[in-house]
Amino acid sequence: MRCWVNGEWIEAESKQVTEIRNPATGEVVDTVPRCGAKETQRAIDAAAAAFPAWSATSTEERGRILMKAAEIVKAKMKDLAPWLTKEQGKPIRDAELEIGHFLHGLEYYGGLVSKMRSDFVPLPGKNMHGVVMRRPLGVCGAIVPWNFPITLMGNKIGPGLAAGNTFVVKPASSTPLCSIAVIEAMHEAGIPKGVLNIVTGPGGEVGEELVQNPRVVRIGFTGETVTGRHVGEVAGRHFKRVSLELGGSDPCIVCDDADLDKAAPAVAIGRFFNCGQACLAVKRLYVFAGVYDAFVEKLVGRANRLKLGNGMEKETQMGPLHTAGQLKEVEEQVSDAVRRGAKVVAGGGRPEGPEYAKGHFYKPTVLVDVPEDARVATEETFGPILPIWKVKDLDEALAKANNHVYGLGSSIWTRDMTKAAVAAERLEAGNVWVNSLHYGHDEMPFGGVKQSGIGREHGIEALLSYTETKGVVYTML
Ligand code: NAD
Repeated sequence: MRCWVNGEWIEAESKQVTEIRNPATGEVVDTVPRCGAKETQRAIDAAAAAFPAWSATSTEERGRILMKAAEIVKAKMKDLAPWLTKEQGKPIRDAELEIGHFLHGLEYYGGLVSKMRSDFVPLPGKNMHGVVMRRPLGVCGAIVPWNFPITLMGNKIGPGLAAGNTFVVKPASSTPLCSIAVIEAMHEAGIPKGVLNIVTGPGGEVGEELVQNPRVVRIGFTGETVTGRHVGEVAGRHFKRVSLELGGSDPCIVCDDADLDKAAPAVAIGRFFNCGQACLAVKRLYVFAGVYDAFVEKLVGRANRLKLGNGMEKETQMGPLHTAGQLKEVEEQVSDAVRRGAKVVAGGGRPEGPEYAKGHFYKPTVLVDVPEDARVATEETFGPILPIWKVKDLDEALAKANNHVYGLGSSIWTRDMTKAAVAAERLEAGNVWVNSLHYGHDEMPFGGVKQSGIGREHGIEALLSYTETKGVVYTML
């Protein structure tokens, strides 16, 4: 595949390409241009040239184009989803779910943008009033990780394009294929050339150029906290607007009055979906003593029943980890926990069999008796590892849940809405789910506190974050 810049396909000036490999088989799926700063500047030029006309279209027109783009992508779902499975590793059904979530976001912002209203402000002076305007910003950079390449691209371009901005998208180096195919399809809806561009290449070159280039006025970044810190620092020097959606270690609390039959599948999905590679995955589980044994048993059963395999096979429920590096990290985190005294009650290693030999597979793993200083407790675990702790009450659960550098999502399972309200108030997180799966609803603001980032994606908040507030004072003569 090639990059899509200014309405045409481009290659890297150097003609170099990057191979994209299937994490389940190690096979090369396709290649993409290995672009750098020069090609990124070309895309920024195109986006800057396209901005005046795009920002001048009516909100209704932009909304209509986004809705049409969603319709076209939906019609191509069966062709698009295999790209995502082959480059990322997720089961084909989950690839379709991800593209479906992306479509829901496009439709949400396509519908919302023309319904937004602004403020009329009475002022103290005679015959004076103010109007608060919202204007698009200009050229935006969307920097996306590899775990949910399509929805996380949509979280930026959906609200950003609707608000009247133009974009250069930088996909993760290992997952560009489906994103390119989706952007190509979106252009059939009539997105003018230069409005939506995509450039492939290393983060340190393409991403860095987007963050450094003063003509890019806003960066929507999702990725690791360490990269996000750098992006925030550099963008800050240029007074760029940023949203930083970073790492997480979401706690989940299961109280003794919880509906365990509802909580168990939600926690299992929350931890093992996408092979545990989700920012909002359930990464630390705190279970009240009274239901601890019963709940651990349910989760162990669920972990052991999950069918691992190549995502292109229909019966596969969990694919491989995305890279060999990711697999090594997960193995080291589990070994560290075991060395410190944790017990493995499910999984705890790679699956055996020829079908797994060439991929980065790791069994869904449940750990108990985990010391508080184990890496699975103190770091983000980006793989199918679920550490569980027994707690005596809500105070202990909340203290442990909050004892972390991250603050992205969190959840509580209880029939007692007073307990739920106390937890919602006290959990140090950008999001709290009560009796529900950790899920980024397009309608709700989503983002983190502490080292999980700044800014919000989804909801009206994201649309507003792609606009500049302008205060206009009128004096009637
Ligand atoms: P990463 O930080 O390695 O890469 C993210 C993106 O940044 C990639 O496109 C990469 O090429 C680019 N990049 C790398 N160096 C750069 C630089 N110097 N300047 C600009 N861009 C650069 O992250 P990853 O490993 O792809 O993703 C996994 C991480 O993302 C996890 O920590 C996960 O929790 C986090 N994540 C967070 C959210 C959220 O909403 N909070 C969602 C998904 C993933």
